[in-house]
Amino acid sequence: MIPVRDDLRALDGYHSAQVDVRVRLNTNESPEPPPAAFRDAVAAEVSRVEWHRYPDRAATELRAAIAELHGVDPDQIFVANGSNEVLQTVLLAYAGPGRTVATFEPTYQMHAQIARVTGATVVEGERAPDFTLDPAEVERVVSEYRPHVVFLTSPNNPTGLVEPVERVMQLLSIAPGLVVVDEAYAQFAEWSALDLVAEDRPLVVTRTFSKTWSMAGARLGYLVGPTWLVAELDKVVLPYHLDAVKQIAGRLALRYSDDMNDRVEHIVAERERIVASMSDLDLEVFPSGANFVLFRVGPGQGLAVWQGLVDHSVLIRDCSGWPRLTDCLRVTVGTPEENTAFLTALADVLTHPSSTDGVTV
Ligand code: PMP
Repeated sequence: MIPVRDDLRALDGYHSAQVDVRVRLNTNESPEPPPAAFRDAVAAEVSRVEWHRYPDRAATELRAAIAELHGVDPDQIFVANGSNEVLQTVLLAYAGPGRTVATFEPTYQMHAQIARVTGATVVEGERAPDFTLDPAEVERVVSEYRPHVVFLTSPNNPTGLVEPVERVMQLLSIAPGLVVVDEAYAQFAEWSALDLVAEDRPLVVTRTFSKTWSMAGARLGYLVGPTWLVAELDKVVLPYHLDAVKQIAGRLALRYSDDMNDRVEHIVAERERIVASMSDLDLEVFPSGANFVLFRVGPGQGLAVWQGLVDHSVLIRDCSGWPRLTDCLRVTVGTPEENTAFLTALADVLTHPSSTDGVTV
């Protein structure tokens, strides 16, 4: 074995336990696939792909279609393999050694993880115990560290909380560098920072096809930002990073936005049903604007409740061992049947305690 870079030695990779179960509600995917008409349209176009040629390096048609969706210029759109790669490209261009990236914890772990991989220093601001963000804390982090990049996630993962527009505006008014608003779950929420994107504002908003568009399997994400910033990202990203099939799939998906909006409506209705049912149980449930719900069980019971659900063949995300998320679990909104299975299992686990790894529920 040869030693990895010194600054990477202590890094822990991204983990999500995978267990063979009947009901999988652990990775915030869409419970429904895209419509059959979309799959047929993709298959027809893919049959005409010139496999011996490189794909369109600028993803011209896909960028134009996304730009039309948001009413912006195609030069304001950067596309990549999942929003994770969008974030990575942003951080390669604007973070890196000698630079500082700020997050407000708890939030999506990959922001800090990717920033560290680029060699940047990560500073962590703190959220209040209810996971809201205090303006004074935003002020403190910005004035103390002068970060080159600051992240907000709205709705936040794993908390589900929507960041108020005032908080984004406050950050924009004082940030010395780039502000990234990660909107992987924005269609489930009431407002979006997209309208704030402007040529004279160092703001990018990132989006994904993995959740609302039911295309986690395709790995496609994008950002909307100023044209001068997108031009820098185009320099940094690998040539031909976005394959021909993905460009087709992304472009065609946007023709089915009515289906997407219907799915979002179903999921939001189911989310409200889950939250209402959970209020009957002895739990702390955090308000969610996303396609998942974070909740807190009794002290020290997180792992046992998670395991109890697995024993009922229901897999959710165990966040109880993560910093600042003691006793917290996160459930993704699934189909009505899956959600009912989860709620029934949860009620059973909470009322019929069992023992796991020495922890008693
Ligand atoms: N941002 C947030 C907040 C997420 O929760 C996720 C996925 N879990 C991503 C970005 C990455 O999404 P993808 O790479 O699938 O587009």
